Amino acid sequence: MTDITGNIARVSERIAAACARVGRDPHEVVIVAVSKQQPASAILEAARAGMQHFGENRVEEAVVKIPSLAGQDDFTWHMIGHIQSRKAKDVPGLFDVVHSVDSVRLAQKLSERAQALNLTLPVLLQMNVSGEDAKSGFDASRWSDDVLQKNSLWQEVQTILQLPSLAVHGLMTMAPVADDMEQVRPVFRSLASLRRALTDSFGVILPELSMGMTDDFPVAIEEGATLVRIGRAIFGDQ
Ligand SMILES: *Cc1c(COP(=O)(O)O)cnc(C)c1O
Repeated sequence: MTDITGNIARVSERIAAACARVGRDPHEVVIVAVSKQQPASAILEAARAGMQHFGENRVEEAVVKIPSLAGQDDFTWHMIGHIQSRKAKDVPGLFDVVHSVDSVRLAQKLSERAQALNLTLPVLLQMNVSGEDAKSGFDASRWSDDVLQKNSLWQEVQTILQLPSLAVHGLMTMAPVADDMEQVRPVFRSLASLRRALTDSFGVILPELSMGMTDDFPVAIEEGATLVRIGRAIFGDQ
């Protein structure tokens, strides 16, 4: 059996060590325990070990799982996976925050639905900074030296910032799979510099950077992650 409690303790130690290396306060880093494909029992064990934030990547799974845990504590549910258009209506009211806003069209749908429910949905904008074709997210691999890409990205961000029922809290990215986590440091650094550029251009505060998973979270924290999305290091390999 997976030692979820022990795993969480080890992840927390590694977070503290990464923070110490760069002089950050570990309280600035929130663990989103990625509970996709995990049963309620595993989630409850993680909660007993101090986890409060949980991440799911499929709406179909979450519409069953989240209500089944509704009686439990104060969980915060993070949607971290790609959302198909026709599923967007199920997301506001179910999830507390969405990391994976990857198009203007999706943002509009989420805002419309949130407005109908009379709520404001916190979101992060998913950026494809690595330029990998397989990754979702706004095209943001060359914004610093491709003025066309920058213009279109800035336009999209501006449109989303104006939507009435979304609150844009920051940016999210996924790094490519790599043998050595040092290889993905530039991806995380690039997301942090994109955040600075957007903050300067739009005068908005974007406090959250969602970056780092089981294989690369220490480097992501060194580069400024505030939300790390950790599945296997907590719940074990599937
Ligand atoms: C599954 C998943 C994670 C967690 O991945 P691990 O490598 O298991 O830590 C993080 N982010 C997203 C978007 C995921 O789908």
